Amino acid sequence: MNILILGSGGREHALAWKIAASPLTQKLYCAPGNAGIAREAECIALDIADHAAVIGFCREQAIDLVVVGPEAPLCAGIVDDLEAVGIKAFGPSKDAARLEGSKGFTKDLCRENNIPTAAYERFRAIAPAKAYLHARGAPIVIKADGLAAGKGVVVAQTVAEAEDALDMMFGGGIPGAVGEAVGEVVIEEFLDGEEASFFALCDGETALPLTTAQDHKRAYDGDKGPNTGGMGAYSPAPNIDEAMATRIMREIIAPTLRAMKAMGCPYKGVLYAGLMITADGPKLIEYNARFGDPETQVLVLRLKSDLVPALLASRDGMLRAFDLRWYDAPALTVVMAAKGYPGAYIRGSVIEGLDAAGKVEGVEIFHAGTKAEGGKILANGGRVLDVSAIGTTVREAQARAYDAVSRIHWPDGFCRHDIGWRAVEREKT
Ligand code: AMP
Repeated sequence: MNILILGSGGREHALAWKIAASPLTQKLYCAPGNAGIAREAECIALDIADHAAVIGFCREQAIDLVVVGPEAPLCAGIVDDLEAVGIKAFGPSKDAARLEGSKGFTKDLCRENNIPTAAYERFRAIAPAKAYLHARGAPIVIKADGLAAGKGVVVAQTVAEAEDALDMMFGGGIPGAVGEAVGEVVIEEFLDGEEASFFALCDGETALPLTTAQDHKRAYDGDKGPNTGGMGAYSPAPNIDEAMATRIMREIIAPTLRAMKAMGCPYKGVLYAGLMITADGPKLIEYNARFGDPETQVLVLRLKSDLVPALLASRDGMLRAFDLRWYDAPALTVVMAAKGYPGAYIRGSVIEGLDAAGKVEGVEIFHAGTKAEGGKILANGGRVLDVSAIGTTVREAQARAYDAVSRIHWPDGFCRHDIGWRAVEREKT
């Protein structure tokens, strides 16, 4: 098969690494890709927001399957546009991607289908939002509707903090936000518990549980500092055992698929549930309509089976008779970011030592934001490298990943030094 991956981050590198290893893959392209992806695929300078250009490329190169990495093209309807001209695409349609693109849509779907989630109200004006806030008190969570590039959620510990968030969201919106992020706000109950991510592959009707992960969203050690796209992750999530996974499938994933189908927008692709495991059981915090980043980097290390037939079965509605095999061994990834991230950072600094780092046992280094120039690898983004490892324990995977990190010479980069701490603590006890 000729396969085209859309995207340029660590998630897409991990997908490219796994897809390139499939005996079904004849030629692999990635648009736009990065310096690491170029080891697995031919990188193409295509603007993936230009759907006509993507379609043109697929026709020229006889692409058999397009795998969409990020959420923005999904919410912009790239899968609908490709499928409309007979090109197979992995991922949800625009209507189905509302599970990620609109928090209000997802909250209403949960309410109508008894899917456990935080109690909430939607607001289009500030006065009733403030009245509701005062009636509920703090802690409380304020969310802008739509894709907000990670800037749309404020977990407020005090009413004053929540008021500031409402003022910010209703007055001028959120810098960097895309889509419909300004205009509607969801106020929801604060959920107490431990977070985990649950991934299911869906074909519109059937959901096949993949595996679980936990991530670290804060920039600095000790889960301190500003929120980021994710500074590291590990799989499996130690707080989801088999009984909990069964509950998540029954109470959250299955009713979501039934509801989407009944609404005429069956969900295909990866459904990524961000969960809070509370004293009352699992509750949905949010859905994402694609693979996680950096969670995919650990998922692919643990996946024994070929990924390509699974992606095809999702697209073709053939998951009912499908199965995937996983390594029991845990995997962990440490994100190396440019100094300053998630704020302002510089591009173009030189990274050395990647070959030596990649030789550490069990280690695979995925590139999240790099480019090659004059035989050198340069940083070209906020999150730049995902140093990933598999091991017999989380502790071993962690030691291997940090051993590799120590061999990378990049004075302009930084990483957290405690990725996986919670899982390692659990292993000790
Ligand atoms: P979201 O973009 O909806 O995933 O929210 C980002 C982060 O905010 C989540 O990963 C949680 O850490 C936190 N969060 C969101 N909603 C809640 C909630 N209802 N209760 C507690 N924390 C939350």
